[in-house]
Amino acid sequence: LTHSIPELLAPAGDLDKLKVSILYGASAVYLGGHLYNLRQASTNFTYPELKEAVLFAHEHNAKVFIVVNNFFHDEDFEEFKSYLEFLQSIKVDALIASDLGVINFIKTYTDLEVHLSTQASCLNVESAKFWKAQGVSRIVLGRELSIAEAKIIKKEAQIEVEMFVHGSMCMAYSGHCTISNFTSGRDSNRGGCAHSCRFEYSLDLGERKQSAFFMSSKDLNGLNYLEKFIEAGIDSLKIEGRMKSYNYAGGVTKAYAEALRFYQNNGSLKDAPFALWAEELAKVTHRDYTEASLIHPADKDSIYFDREHEINDYKLVGNILAVKEGQYLLMETKGKFEQGQELEIVPFVGGARKFKVEEMYRLNGERVSVTRPSTVIKIPFMESVSAYNIVRMRTHL
Ligand code: SF4
Repeated sequence: LTHSIPELLAPAGDLDKLKVSILYGASAVYLGGHLYNLRQASTNFTYPELKEAVLFAHEHNAKVFIVVNNFFHDEDFEEFKSYLEFLQSIKVDALIASDLGVINFIKTYTDLEVHLSTQASCLNVESAKFWKAQGVSRIVLGRELSIAEAKIIKKEAQIEVEMFVHGSMCMAYSGHCTISNFTSGRDSNRGGCAHSCRFEYSLDLGERKQSAFFMSSKDLNGLNYLEKFIEAGIDSLKIEGRMKSYNYAGGVTKAYAEALRFYQNNGSLKDAPFALWAEELAKVTHRDYTEASLIHPADKDSIYFDREHEINDYKLVGNILAVKEGQYLLMETKGKFEQGQELEIVPFVGGARKFKVEEMYRLNGERVSVTRPSTVIKIPFMESVSAYNIVRMRTHL
């Protein structure tokens, strides 16, 4: 029995990351405007960018969901109606919201679909039925749920369900946390989280004073459970990470997109090249990986006891802007590398390819021996390279 393939929902922190995620295989993206979303530190989108984002996504058969999952204070409603009218006019595919008042407001003033944000902590069938009756068309389930529990909610409540499959985890229950509010004056429920849970804290135990990192979570990695997600009928698999890099947006999306394609072509993931996809996931910046609550409730194995640093064996050094067939590649540099150094280019489909840049030039023809970030250079033409391909470099051998 072959099951239908879930949507692969990738984060889009800015317009370029949106394009990267879609070109590497996302079937939907989620993003925020300048207001009203819980990731105000990510670059976010202006109105013209939102319009371009929707056009680009729809041209590539991908959907766009806009995040409005702040918990609103009354003042937050002031510009909300005109924002919603704009989003409706550019034909976004759905809004992701958590506040009951916000959901009611959207339903009153627009015809837009609403997905219930994971922030609303929907964890059971009765709650899912309630939200369905409020006009919500999809539920992003709380991260505390297992795949088996999600399957029951979908079946009993007869509603679309979305689950996180990969990315950073928030130690607080469905993200309801005020550590950041108290320690940094930044409201995590209005987009300001300072990631205070990743800091070192000391416990004063009288004689013994202990410092430790005990509130930071490892990162979720659901690759090995992909077949369970598919067989449970989960409608959408969400990758966390609107604040993350291009390398992350492209690499993680690519790994999951290829795994889903493999299932589609073979009807199973038996004999699938998991090692290849795991290698791709290992090449993006991450903490140690955990399965979190996908099978059993998360426990102390999910805690990341290390000082706040992330495993980062590869770094992004550029992305391809344009391909001049048979002549050269135009590349925007994102980091420093030297002529002759080994780099790796990541095609939209298939394995990463190593290469050495034997010569590189500025647009005025001047030769370059060491790059700086944010410059545009020409490098020799290579077959099967496309605009928006990621170029990265190993940081240590
Ligand atoms: S400080 Fe940590 S636990 Fe709290 S909201 Fe931010 S990421 Fe979540």
